[in-house]
Amino acid sequence: MSSSNGWPSGLSILGATGSIGTQTLDIVRLFPDRFRVRALTAHRNANLLAQQALEFQPECVVIGDEAEAAGLRKALAGTDIRVLAGAEGLCEAATLAEVDTVVAAVVGFAGLEPVLAAIRSGKKIALANKETLVVAGALVNKLLDEHGGSLIPVDSEHSAIFQCLVGEPAHAVETLVLTASGGPFRTRPAETFVDITRAEALNHPNWSMGAKITIDSATMMNKGLEVIEARWLFDIPADRIEVLVHPQSIIHSMVTFTDGSTKAQLGVPDMKVPIQYALSYPDRWPAPHERIDWQTLHCLDFEPPDFDKFPCLRLAYDAVRHGGTAPAILNAANEQAVALFLKDRIQFVEIPHLVEAALEELAVSVQPSYETLVEADAGARRLVLEHGRALSD
Ligand code: NAD
Ligand code: MG
Repeated sequence: MSSSNGWPSGLSILGATGSIGTQTLDIVRLFPDRFRVRALTAHRNANLLAQQALEFQPECVVIGDEAEAAGLRKALAGTDIRVLAGAEGLCEAATLAEVDTVVAAVVGFAGLEPVLAAIRSGKKIALANKETLVVAGALVNKLLDEHGGSLIPVDSEHSAIFQCLVGEPAHAVETLVLTASGGPFRTRPAETFVDITRAEALNHPNWSMGAKITIDSATMMNKGLEVIEARWLFDIPADRIEVLVHPQSIIHSMVTFTDGSTKAQLGVPDMKVPIQYALSYPDRWPAPHERIDWQTLHCLDFEPPDFDKFPCLRLAYDAVRHGGTAPAILNAANEQAVALFLKDRIQFVEIPHLVEAALEELAVSVQPSYETLVEADAGARRLVLEHGRALSD
């Protein structure tokens, strides 16, 4: 644990080798006195994980894929670093006694269980893994209440809203405005979506991110997941969360208050800023991240989202209004469909079709337990795999 003034803070970085994980380590490099890295985890990339471990000397590292564990042990032979493998290792990394803050930067449903474990053991969570709140927002909030925990958003839109809300009374919030870049296909005619290739979908105009979230940005499912994420983070019904396309990604999101005033948070698109804020909150630390050049920034553009061209956005609103396991089904079907698309097994336009089929065909449970959420996730994946197989045959 950290000293009485709170620094250095013991960090566990789940998903350390990914886009958010590596940028979190950049923040640690900027503020070496503020952090002590206690645990690092990765799914398969044992080489990068070993490199990171040698640099940051955590107590333990966790590799998800057990087949990679032997190589990792060899790379770390002669150090005191413990090497764990598999999903239990991930939960152990999230709950180590020396850890104050868990950076949840695993992608997808796999990130949920360690976040729940971290909340139960009273850790502060810097949350990048939006799927956690999409699948289990009600359960997460209940556990946070029971364990008196805190969860600070890393997602840039939610960090923006969180920053706009500092010092504001909750009852004065009228609507949240989530901005969206619109992704690489914002201006592409819908008739040509059948020809979209994997390379085109992976080419995001403003952000460099992991493959799954990049595809989600191209379908705009990412914004749908973010509506659900905001619903739980800020305890506000989805009908009061508006999506606004803003191609420059300079305004990261906004809050309109009951007196008619709107606050926005702005910045150059750079995830290091919201990552750092999640770690420094309620303080701010001086850092050399790029500033907006107001003299050359000529205009900011806005347009309404096109729900017909991007049906994933509508499906996400439908799922959160339905509640229960519907968002878990949406999320799992989407994860599975995106995985199939990334393997060139289905077309881009099949992604929303498969998600819609899962939401139509699977029964929704109300007030689900953790086990029910896990079943809903597995059921939706199975259904998408079956439909996907039929499509690629
Ligand atoms: P990424 O694919 O670059 O990295 C994912 C990390 O999780 C890697 O370290 C990987 O080894 C690990 N991982 C993957 N599957 C795993 C599994 N089954 N078990 C354990 N570990 C696993 O992803 P990313 O872009 O860094 O995104 C991480 C999370 O943050 C996602 O939920 C994403 O939606 C969210 N997010 C990312 C960004 C961004 O700019 N990258 C912005 C906002 C939110
Ligand atoms: Mg975002």
